[in-house]
Amino acid sequence: MRSLTILGATGSVGSSTLDLVRRNLADWRVVALTANGSAAELAALAREFAAEIAVVSDESCLPALREALSGSGIAAAGGASALVEAAARPVDLTVAAIVGCAGLAPTMAAIEQGGTIALANKEALVSAGEVMTAAVARHGATLLPVDSEHNAIFQCLQGHAISDVRAITLTASGGPFRTWGTERIAAATPAEAVAHPNWTMGAKISVDSATMFNKGLELIEAHHLFPVGLDRLRILVHPQSVIHSMVEYRDGSTLAQLGPPDMRVPIASCLAWPRRMDTPMEPLDLAGIGTLSFEAPDEARFPATRIARDAAQAGGAAPAVLNAANEVAVAAFLAGRIGFADIAIVVERVLALGDHRPAPRSLEDVLAVDADARALAREALEPA
Ligand code: NDP
Repeated sequence: MRSLTILGATGSVGSSTLDLVRRNLADWRVVALTANGSAAELAALAREFAAEIAVVSDESCLPALREALSGSGIAAAGGASALVEAAARPVDLTVAAIVGCAGLAPTMAAIEQGGTIALANKEALVSAGEVMTAAVARHGATLLPVDSEHNAIFQCLQGHAISDVRAITLTASGGPFRTWGTERIAAATPAEAVAHPNWTMGAKISVDSATMFNKGLELIEAHHLFPVGLDRLRILVHPQSVIHSMVEYRDGSTLAQLGPPDMRVPIASCLAWPRRMDTPMEPLDLAGIGTLSFEAPDEARFPATRIARDAAQAGGAAPAVLNAANEVAVAAFLAGRIGFADIAIVVERVLALGDHRPAPRSLEDVLAVDADARALAREALEPA
């Protein structure tokens, strides 16, 4: 039996993880489950999985969590420091599935315990970059990528030397607006943006998929996880989302990982690593799918991958600034305050103001850059 903590247990990745745990209850002892404000849902999960502790990040939701857990013997806690304390409880596996830079401090707390972290929370790695990878090395932690593309690359690299890699190709579905013209994209509504053609995901990553900032964030994520150099990281649009990414070696062999577009596949690969486990998905039916197609990304209609590549190239604080500005802009778009095309405009504007900062050297530095960039982004949202 292995011990498990899920940061962001009530979200899309959290639910997919718990679905797999539910099917293999004898294998897991759940230590901590966390959410932001979904107290009732979190309490129900904590009771079902007999967690030791449930934590809501939003402290105002703690009374509701306490009430919902009364008589269960499960500890309840609330607030940012309680979240970090829960993440620091030693466990065999931590699934980091909070959305946004809000997940950085608890993920770092888990890393500092030297355990294994299944990382879905890409924004944390994009913002912290070398601060996180250095902490992983310093504390002897293991980072397993949950993101389907990075999980695919991780699998394709097993048993091979990274020095033999000629190129890594991140595939992208192209999102719901892949075939739309510029004007129609600019007028896209939040409901249209979250309606992803292949994947069911949380609202923020769904909008990121529509703008292609998701692929931009993933490019930066890959840059940190697989240090082959930015010039060897490519993006290829593959609308069927069957090939999740590819690694090309110097002898001309290209290895790819294929699977149904269901996050339970990469999550299962992390839960069972280095072994394999059963999942409930139907086997991939390639004859039924018939055709796998590929397109070059169109950075005129979707500038996000260019902006992200430039930020990765600039290094220093730029990726953290990009991430923070994008989080603020996506929230404003979902709230109906700005248009779809404004997301990239806000991010570029804030990057132009903020990317001269020195490279963050500590968690506190990253959080300071993040806070400054959020303030700049909120200013950029105001009409001139
Ligand atoms: P969701 O929005 O579905 O869930 C987010 C989770 O984080 C919820 O448990 C939520 O709690 C919690 N949360 C939100 N804000 C905060 C906060 N400020 N402090 C603490 N906890 C918070 O997101 P997803 O599951 O879609 O995505 C999670 C991460 O995984 C993201 O980084 C995303 O990019 C990445 N990812 C997701 C994929 C997917 O298929 N969904 C695929 C690949 C990567 P509450 O319910 O209370 O709001």
